[in-house]
Order: sequence, then C-alpha cells, then structure tokens
Amino acid sequence: MSSSNSTYDIIVVGAGHAGCEAALSAARMGCRVLLTAIDLDKLAAMPCSPSIGGMAKGHLVKEIDALGGEMAKVADQTAIQYRTLNTKKGPAVQASRSQNDKQRYHMVMKRVVEMQPGLDLKQALIERLHVEGDRVVGVEDHTGFGYAARAVVLATGTFLGGLVHIGFRSIPAGRAGEFASYSLPAHLRELGFDLGRLKTGTPPRLKRTSIDFTRFTAQGGDERPVPFSSFSGDPVLPQLPSFIGYTGERTHAIVRRNLSRSALYGGVITGISARYCPSFEDKIVKFPEKDRHQVILEPEGIDTEEIYASGLGNSLPLDVQIEVVRSVPGLECAEIMRPAYAIEYDYVNPVQLRNTLETQRVQGLYLAGQINGTSGYEEAAAQGLWAGINAACRVQGRPAFVLDRSQAYMGVMIDDLVTRGTREPYRMFTSRAEHRLILREDNADLRLMELGHELGLIGADAADELRRRRERIGAEIRRVRATVVRPTPKVNAYLEEQGSKPIQQGVHLDQLVKRAELGYHAVENLAPAPEPVTASAARQVAIEIKYEGYIQKQIKEIEKFKHLEKIRIPDDFDFRTVHGLSNELKNKLAEVRPTCLGQCARIDGITPAALSVLMVALKARGR
Ligand SMILES: Cc1cc2nc3c(=O)[nH]c(=O)nc-3n(C[C@H](O)[C@H](O)[C@H](O)COP(=O)(O)OP(=O)(O)OC[C@H]3O[C@@H](n4cnc5c(N)ncnc54)[C@H](O)[C@@H]3O)c2cc1C
Repeated sequence: MSSSNSTYDIIVVGAGHAGCEAALSAARMGCRVLLTAIDLDKLAAMPCSPSIGGMAKGHLVKEIDALGGEMAKVADQTAIQYRTLNTKKGPAVQASRSQNDKQRYHMVMKRVVEMQPGLDLKQALIERLHVEGDRVVGVEDHTGFGYAARAVVLATGTFLGGLVHIGFRSIPAGRAGEFASYSLPAHLRELGFDLGRLKTGTPPRLKRTSIDFTRFTAQGGDERPVPFSSFSGDPVLPQLPSFIGYTGERTHAIVRRNLSRSALYGGVITGISARYCPSFEDKIVKFPEKDRHQVILEPEGIDTEEIYASGLGNSLPLDVQIEVVRSVPGLECAEIMRPAYAIEYDYVNPVQLRNTLETQRVQGLYLAGQINGTSGYEEAAAQGLWAGINAACRVQGRPAFVLDRSQAYMGVMIDDLVTRGTREPYRMFTSRAEHRLILREDNADLRLMELGHELGLIGADAADELRRRRERIGAEIRRVRATVVRPTPKVNAYLEEQGSKPIQQGVHLDQLVKRAELGYHAVENLAPAPEPVTASAARQVAIEIKYEGYIQKQIKEIEKFKHLEKIRIPDDFDFRTVHGLSNELKNKLAEVRPTCLGQCARIDGITPAALSVLMVALKARGR
C-alpha cells in the first residue's frame, strides 16, 4: 500500500451535510483536516426535498448557526422561499423552513469548503480504516492509497451497502447515479460493530413545462422572510411559490392494482422505513379511508426545469410511476425527469457511541449523520458539527463538548441516539424535547453562541454583539416589569382599539403584555423604550414576559434534571457487578455505558427501583 507522507489531524469520510460541518468546524478550530467524498460534484447534495428546516429541524439549523456552523448561512444564500410554520401556535413550536436551489446549495457549500484554510478536499472511495490496537490511525481508499490521521469521522450517509430500488430493479448505489460503499460496512462488521438496515425514498422529479399549474393552488412564502442565520441579511435569490394539489380515487386504484410490483410491497426491501415519512404506497395501504392525498410541487431551483413532487415518493416500476403521475389533476401530460426510488442502506446503531459521537469500540473514530440511523439534512449537519468539534477537542487535548437535553435540541438528539439507539430512521420532533419552551428557535443564539465563541468558531465581534443584545433584552424586560401604566383616556383608548379590557387603576406594563390579545406592541404604544429595541429583541422580551410562568416551571424541572446529570459514573464502573439489577438491565447498561445517573434513567427498562440500586452502588464505589 502506498500512502501520503503527511499525517492529518482529522480525516472526514463523506462530504454530505454531516461531513461538511465536521470538516469545517475542525479546520476552523485549527486542525489539519482531509475531507473525502465519492463524487465532489455531489458535495452537500440534497437527494430528497429541496428544503432546509421545518418542525424542530429549523431549531437545529439555528443551533448550528449559533455554534458557528455553516448550514444556516448557505441556506440563506440559496433560499428561494421562506416560511415560518405554526405562527398561530406558541413560540416553542414555531419553526423556519426554506426552499432552496439545490445546485446553488452544493456550489456555495463547496466553495466554502474549498476556501477553508487547513482543509483539503479529495475525491476518494474509502474502503478500510487503519486501526492499531483499539485506536484508529488512518484510512485506505479504493486505489490502495492510505492517509494517516489522529482521528477519523465517518459521515457516509445512505452509501454503506446502498441499494436503490425501482420496482423489482435493484442497483447498488449510494443514491441514484452514485457508487455505493460496500467494503467499508464489511470492515466495520469485522471490527465488531453492530450494523442494521434502514430504508428511505424519494418522489419523482417532473418537467416544469409539462405541468398544468392552473390546476394547482400556488403557495407563496412569507412576505417578510426571516433568515436562518444571525449573520445573514435579506434573501439574495428571487422567491418562488410552491403549488398544492391532490391525488384522487383514480390514482389510488392504480397503486392498489400494482402494489405487488412495488419494491416495498413486493418484498424486495428489508430495511426499516420511517413511520412519520410514509411512501405513497404506504399511504394508500395504511389510510384507505382517505379519498385524497396532498401533492406539493416544489421548484428544485431557479435555473432548472425540475420540479420535486412531494407526497409521491414510491418504489413502483417506471411504467406504473408514469400512470400514477398522469392520473393526478394537472399532471396529465407530466414528463418524469427522474423516477422515484427507494434506497436501503446500512447504519450503525448509535448505542455503540459515547455522547461525543466517538465509538466505544475504536478510539478516535467518530460517526455522524445518517450512518447513526437519523434521517434529514439538519439532523446530519448537527451531528457533523458535534463530531467535528469533539474530534478537534480530542486531538487538541481539550475537554469534550457535550450539550445536555436542557441546553439544545442537538443535546436531546445525541442523548436519544446514544442512550436508546434507534431501530427506524430517527427524525427530530419538538415533542422529543421535554424542555422545548426553553429550547426555542428565537433564543438559539442566546443559549449557544457564547459556547461557539469559547470553541473558537464564533468571532469576538459576534460574541460582543450577542452580549450587548442579551443585556439589552434583560434591561428591557426589567424596565417593562417596573413600568406602571396609568388608566389615562389614551391608554384605555389603545386597549379598546386592541379589543382589550380598559384598566381602572395603575397596572405594571408586563401585566398588560401578558394579555393574550396584547404583546410588545403595547410597550411601543404605551411606554416606548428610550432607545428602540430590534424586532428580534422585542420578540424575546414579549416571550419571556408572556410565558414567564411556564418558563419558570421548566427552569425548576431543569434543576431537577441537572441534579441526576451531575451524578457521574466512572468510565471503568462495571455495571455487571451491581447486585439487585436484572441481567437484562446489566447487559443494557454495559452496552450503553451511560456517563451519569440521569442518562441511566432514560434507558428503556430502567425503573426507579433500579435507579436507587445504582445510586447505592455508586455511593459505595465513591466510598
Ligand atoms: C433517496 C433519498 C431519500 C431521502 N429522503 C429523505 C426524506 O424524505 N427526509 C429526510 O429527512 N431525509 C431524507 N433523505 C436523507 C437525507 O438525504 C440525509 O439525511 C442526509 O443527506 C444525510 O446527510 P449525511 O451527511 O449523513 O450523508 P449524505 O448526505 O448521504 O452524504 C454522504 C457522503 O458520504 C460520502 N461517502 C459515502 N461512503 C463513502 C466512502 N466509503 N468513501 C468516501 N466517501 C463516502 C458520499 O460521497 C457523500 O458525500 C433521503 C436520502 C436519500 C438518498
């Protein structure tokens, strides 16, 4: 084997959403990094929906931005539509979503990666890891060429054992049109890793000019788009609408008639798919009572004819796909530019990882993204950032970077993955976060940017600006709470205008802001700040005041949560020696290797009784 004569600090295998964040963060923390991909023209590709964000995914994107990651900035530079979801609901579940120009997303991210000092980008199919004892020391590619490194991040997405299905035709591929990686999963098995099989799928892409858009309802984006990144300005690209339509009984009958020819229902696919992201066949089978299913036509970009037909993901043979598409009102003459397909791939059950995303089995080896059983660009990017930071901390001898469930959605996701593992594609939902009122999109920078600065990923100016913003918000909240509003005709006229009950005596301004029909607008009208605050700061002030009670309650719960998190478990603690635990629980604890008592409590099957047994054992160990 020939090899490079220089040693990298970190090698990142895979330049998808996870790999790009891992490589950029490690290089920006001062490491010498090599980033490899099977096809550089598919760096940061969006093989599925041309969108970033959405429910809970928008929270991850904002957290990535606050910690100094890249996804939010690239999303803003390539956004062709912005929408804020759940605006009628509370702030905890409001989320941002953008439609993006896929080609531009790839090009912008590739440029950022290419221009990053200390980061080499190479096209290579990595087939083996070089492991000495229990430590990774490098990788070897399909040409037999080796690269040495002190840490390796695997971010290989849907490529490990990738198999694409269109009807009964199956092709080894990591995505349609791209090589799969078969040697690497075989090597991971040799190293003793437990790999599972998952499945996902994508809808057809249709030719824009072959669609009768008059049969669809246009859906535009927000009038005043709010960018993902604190560092972005107004949208740079023209904003385009999506189009909403529906299937009908005729379409459903075609699918029912051909179910046995679908890879999924024809028994070809063994991988587990996501319950929350059913294929079109699944919808027909599982919701027979529904007489129509939504189809959303989303532009894949500005300079392309390709239209993403969301809702029509399937693994039917092409002749049936054409029939299905052309049975939808408005698509009678539609041309399929790319067929829908399903893909199966190997993943590593993440209970085999520490909460730094380092593997327990091989030191210095980190896994990030879809390889850990998650699904989604945002989930992948968040893990990539986390793994990149931790690989850099390891190489530089710095303390590990771990956020807990009360600090970030990232903390919730990583803790879920390494504590419970996953048997189906894991996607982030707001319902997964017990402290979601604290973990809002709008305060991601206040929660995390200081940490990004300490890591060296956020500059001093941005950190100073953040501190000023925090002080400004705090001062304004104190001012509003201290301000007494008198029952003057002007005040009561304003309140009546807002459909709010007039006041008879002086009240504190925050009590008015707490009224459902009022908000910071009342402050601006009744007792404006000497120096106006920004719209985003005003939003913070209103949320902190309106939800004060709930927020205080969550802060109390977090204190309880942190109490158990503080009870650390020594690395060499042998769970198998703890009397009073069932063998099943002993095995599960030995497999997960929780780092604190709080994490033990979240392992399936751990009862309060088992927790007290562990507490006693840890105390005895302490003594
Ligand atoms: C068909 C399809 C449908 C999908 N549908 C959805 C969906 O509906 N909803 C959703 O949320 N997500 C969906 N996804 C998943 C989404 O694409 C991924 O979650 C996301 O891209 C994962 O990012 P990643 O960085 O982990 O991996 P990827 O984006 O897959 O990138 C993997 C990278 O690893 C490289 N690589 C792989 N093996 C090697 C090797 N041995 N050597 C060198 N480089 C290697 C590849 O070249 C690529 O650069 C779908 C994906 C596919 C393929």
